[in-house]
Amino acid sequence: MTDLPRIPLAGVIGHPIAHSRSPALHGFWLKRYGIKGHYIPMDISPANLKEALSFLPKLGFVGLNVTIPHKEAVLGLADVVSDRAALIGAANTLIFRKDGKIHADNTDGAGFVANLRQHAPRWEPTSRPAAIFGAGGAARAVIAALVELGVPEIRIANRTRPRAEALRGDFGARLQVTDWVHAPNMIRDCGLVINATSLGMTGKADFRIPLDALAPGTVVTDLVYTPLMTQFLIEAADRGAHVVDGLGMLLHQAAPGFERWFDHRPEVDDATRQAVLGA
Ligand code: NAP
Repeated sequence: MTDLPRIPLAGVIGHPIAHSRSPALHGFWLKRYGIKGHYIPMDISPANLKEALSFLPKLGFVGLNVTIPHKEAVLGLADVVSDRAALIGAANTLIFRKDGKIHADNTDGAGFVANLRQHAPRWEPTSRPAAIFGAGGAARAVIAALVELGVPEIRIANRTRPRAEALRGDFGARLQVTDWVHAPNMIRDCGLVINATSLGMTGKADFRIPLDALAPGTVVTDLVYTPLMTQFLIEAADRGAHVVDGLGMLLHQAAPGFERWFDHRPEVDDATRQAVLGA
């Protein structure tokens, strides 16, 4: 019998997983580029994670996206961890290498930056401070990227202050921790303001921090993308800010994984956005 090439499989693992937009995104790219491959959402509980990672490569999987609650746990199961994933303390992309090793990477920070480059090309990272609300996993990835870009000062406020202090311990004195109650003041004179909390997401509490100190022209972005135009972005736009929604970050963080698994660099354009929004 002739040996046919194996059809590459990839997917996203999480628990739950039904909400994920990744299958629509990767499915769109596979179709657009005529690639014979499949991308599958898989609900895997923490108890089954280790077994799943050892078994999936044997089924023909070339890699995975990883979402809550597995982003930290996969680091301990991978053979090779990229520097940025180690620094962030979480991975969102796994590559099952031909030598049998599992490579873990984190592309959230790169996705965040690529989104700003695309939708706020005039933002100059080194010219002014940035302010970030939140100190969870996504904030860690964004801060790592901002440090790498040479942002001179990063002001951070988190409801639970010790979590922000811990980030200062990891990323250094460029991080200035502000008390949550004083968060409205930290956005003054910033070139970039970021919501990296889950506030404002459909089904979660509202983002209620006043934005009176926001200067017109400031780049303001929200990691929350459901809804696409959050109250935070609407209020920032009303004050003359240049707003960038969080969907682009999701699209851009996915591109490096797709390229590694399916050997084709996908384009993030309006058709890609529409494919994900319409799913
Ligand atoms: P996480 O690790 O659970 O962190 C959640 C953050 O939100 C923490 O800073 C938390 O503060 C804060 N928070 C939650 N409820 C709050 C409340 N009622 N008042 C004040 N602060 C509150 O989550 P994550 O992974 O960092 O994700 C954060 C958001 O980013 C989520 O909405 C996620 O969907 C989004 N995200 C988007 C992308 C994208 O591609 N656009 C990528 C990653 C994440 P405490 O520390 O005080 O709990």
